[in-house]
Amino acid sequence: MTARLRALPPLTALLATLLAVSVWAQNPPPPTPAPPPGEFDSCLAKLRAPARAVGVNDASFTRFTQGLQPDMSVIDKLNYQPEFRTAVWDYLAGLVDDQRVAEGQGMLALHAETLKRVQERYGVDPATVVAVWGVESNFGQTFGKSPLVQSLGTLSCFGRRQGYFRTELFAALRILQEGHIARERLVGSWAGAFGHTQFMPSTFERLAVDFDGDGKADLMDSAADALASTANFLHKAGWQSNQPWGFEVRLPRGFNSSGEGRRTKRPMSEWAERGVTHTDGSPLPSGMGVAGLLTPAGPQGPAFLVLRNFDAIYGYNASESYGLAIAHLSDRLRGGGAFATPWPTDDPGLSRAERREVQTLLIARGHDIGEVDGMLGDKSRAAIRAEQERLGQEASGRAGQKLLKSLRGL
Ligand code: CA
Repeated sequence: MTARLRALPPLTALLATLLAVSVWAQNPPPPTPAPPPGEFDSCLAKLRAPARAVGVNDASFTRFTQGLQPDMSVIDKLNYQPEFRTAVWDYLAGLVDDQRVAEGQGMLALHAETLKRVQERYGVDPATVVAVWGVESNFGQTFGKSPLVQSLGTLSCFGRRQGYFRTELFAALRILQEGHIARERLVGSWAGAFGHTQFMPSTFERLAVDFDGDGKADLMDSAADALASTANFLHKAGWQSNQPWGFEVRLPRGFNSSGEGRRTKRPMSEWAERGVTHTDGSPLPSGMGVAGLLTPAGPQGPAFLVLRNFDAIYGYNASESYGLAIAHLSDRLRGGGAFATPWPTDDPGLSRAERREVQTLLIARGHDIGEVDGMLGDKSRAAIRAEQERLGQEASGRAGQKLLKSLRGL
């Protein structure tokens, strides 16, 4: 099952790249032009037979694709080339902040009964399930706004991954045909991930479950179905109910971590022999199987031993930074604190509240950055660069604690 999970998502790698990134180059490429009239319709017409071959009947195909217009903005997003990678401390600062911890603890209380039954059924603890929920859809508050059939239809006819997206389009049409989710409710990310769990349609078909017993697996409007589906995903990805995801460790001075990583699993005893300890210096546990060593910011930053469950989280979205965000948020939800070893930077990242404050301060200084949403997009980055130039700071377009302090003091 795990291999199947792994084999599936070339998309998750793509999403991971998108997550890890944020700005256009100074001059973004021009938008993809509209196709010639009739081209989209003729492409869709050619998809009818292959859709039928995988279970989408003609009536459904007609009903759900009639009058569909392409949305070429999704092709721009598909072709997006990052200018630089976001540092892991910026990525985590935005995903695991005090606000998300507080909201997550509220969700743990609100859904305690459901989460208990989910744990009994799938063996995945409430904090992990809620952490995935918080990162994937901000606890059901951010689903994306693209109508799925439109975006997947466009990606099935234009751009460079049409085969992959056709499979997802056909899965979306089957989901509609079976009545799990109403057509107007099936909206999501530009690339087709939708609902509380941000599953792709094919993932939905393999792993979504009906947990509230109404006969539908509804990842748009049923928190119970969504929480159980997330747990089912992790369960099928090999979750071990008696183990943590891993934990932060302390490396001895001069430790050689070259060649180590998530996939290079070694017995706990071997790590202990090499001088690795808990962050408080106490000895590593025994009886936990093998672990890989993650040093996401190099040997000067925090280090982690990661177990089988970290790989299960990684299966959800193939990015180690993503896995670490889920893992750390789950620890924070259980009452844990910040990492013991600070990130190796003198300019730490910003929480979402601090990002909103930066945006508010930029607006106060006359910049047109659109709405204050805590997402530092193209306009915010351009304004940040302008302010950094004025302040004599490196015009990186990145906002950290230093820039926030400077703007507050102006
Ligand atoms: Ca249901």
